[in-house]
Parts: sequence; C-alpha cells; structure tokens
Amino acid sequence: MEKFGFFISKGRQINYDSNDRSIAEYIYEREPSFRRCIECGGCSATCTTGSMTKFSLRELHILIKRGENDKVMESLKKCMLCGKCILVCPRGVNTRNIVVLAKQAFQKSAAYAI
Ligand code: SF4
Ligand code: SF4
Repeated sequence: MEKFGFFISKGRQINYDSNDRSIAEYIYEREPSFRRCIECGGCSATCTTGSMTKFSLRELHILIKRGENDKVMESLKKCMLCGKCILVCPRGVNTRNIVVLAKQAFQKSAAYAI
C-alpha cells in the first residue's frame, strides 16, 4: 500500500495504576526526604557522572516515582555514590541514600534480577 506523509505516533501515556511503584514506596518509607524533591535539577547539574554521561539524577527520581523500573535499573548503575549531589540540594534531600535504597529495593525484590 502506498505510504502517505503522515502516521499516528505510538501512545506515550504513563499508567500509574499498572506501573510497579514498590521501589518508590520502599524509599519513601526509609528516606522521607525523597518526598521533598521538587525536581529542580540542581543535583544533576553538579553530578560527577552527569558531566561525563547522559545520566541525570533528577530524571532518575522521576522514573522511580513513576514506577518505570526497567529504566531505573539501567540508570542506577551509573551513579558512583560520590555524594556531591547532597551538597547542592536546596531541599535537603539525601540523594545518595536514595540511590543506595533503590539498589537495595531491587536486590530484595523477587520481581527484578539485578
Ligand atoms: S537538587 Fe534536590 S530538590 Fe533538586 S532535583 Fe535534586 S534531589 Fe530534587
Ligand atoms: S552520588 Fe551519584 S548522583 Fe550524586 S553526584 Fe555522585 S554520581 Fe552523581
């Protein structure tokens, strides 16, 4: 069939109901400062890994909250746990601990092999 010059894009909706948000809940419980993050991006701007790669801690926080866990697992590996991001966060979020807890949550979860 002849192709025309337009097509319908694939849907990009995020389904909060069907996404697995257990990793986010695990972190909220143990590091309540995670709730204070306003996704300003200050941490990403100073991140050691972010200066050399496309890694963004801000994006990682958003993905965790959305329950997009496959992407989270991939991104988590890039953090070096240097702790620079903690120093600049205007909301006093313990960013380093969030990464540590996310890794821990994946290790404990039977649903994910890390
Ligand atoms: S600097 Fe703090 S408030 Fe801003 S995105 Fe990073 S963790 Fe969230
Ligand atoms: S602890 Fe991780 S996210 Fe924070 S500045 Fe270091 S590499 Fe970046």
